[in-house]
Amino acid sequence: MLRVVVLGAAAGGGVPQWNCGCPVCRMARTEHPELQRTQASIAISADGDHWFLVNASPDLRQQLIATRQLHPRAGKLRHSPVSGVILTNGEIDAVAGLLSMREGWPFTIYAHARVLSILKANSIFNVLNARSVRRQPIEIDAAFEPTLPDGAPSGIEILPFAVPGKGAWYLEGEVHPAGASGAGDTLGLRIADKASGKFFYFLAACADVTDELKSRLAGATAIFFDGTVWRDDELIAAGLGNKTGQGMGHIAMSGDRGAITSLAGLDIGRKMFLHINNSNPVLLLHSAEREIAERAGWQIPADGTEMTL
Ligand SMILES: [Zn+2]
Repeated sequence: MLRVVVLGAAAGGGVPQWNCGCPVCRMARTEHPELQRTQASIAISADGDHWFLVNASPDLRQQLIATRQLHPRAGKLRHSPVSGVILTNGEIDAVAGLLSMREGWPFTIYAHARVLSILKANSIFNVLNARSVRRQPIEIDAAFEPTLPDGAPSGIEILPFAVPGKGAWYLEGEVHPAGASGAGDTLGLRIADKASGKFFYFLAACADVTDELKSRLAGATAIFFDGTVWRDDELIAAGLGNKTGQGMGHIAMSGDRGAITSLAGLDIGRKMFLHINNSNPVLLLHSAEREIAERAGWQIPADGTEMTL
């Protein structure tokens, strides 16, 4: 059985974002604390005892406190059920949480060479001592099974695949430590329970739903999909920024080429948006946008949402 916990469902900045006075952030700060969400990450486990994080958000410390499955086992002086972290990109909201895991517990970081090169180029990540924290490269279209701290198999098979996206935002206009171009900046994951063969997909960033992606996702039991913005020009229209969703490597939920329309009719069991920006009105319980998304079969998960496959 594969267990999944949504540690955080929001995009970078979370809900509310520290410096944002948009309607959603204001409500989350005042009369509607249920709108609050931490930055996107999920935890997965095949045995219920050992867990792997998919991305390590800047809110990881708070997420670890809020999630009982990730607490140190009773009776142990130093312990964490976290056996590894799988990184799907090098954005701050995917890697900054690693800095909160610096207290000497052994685990493995699994990431594409392009993302590992970012960690290597930023010496602050050396705080994760190489003797206890292994960094293991993963490759596109090559399935791997993350291992437990004692080297035993985890029972989880992960297939990383390339999805349309962008390199890390803070590297825009800079030389990427792994070279100027190449696939691997944005990965989707197919995550399977080896015992049952059941699987789901994780795509927290995706700029476009290609025909290839459609055929991959068709018939899936469950997907977590990029829900950053409702409409492509949302940040500009709200006066919150000058970037489009596309400019940030994120497909919009709405519109002819948006996620809701593009992924309709594919016989996907459970569709959940993840990485939802605080500007996105779909977060509001009774908004027209929320209704459209839910009518199309999409869920807007709260932090702490659990799923078993
Ligand atoms: Zn806001």
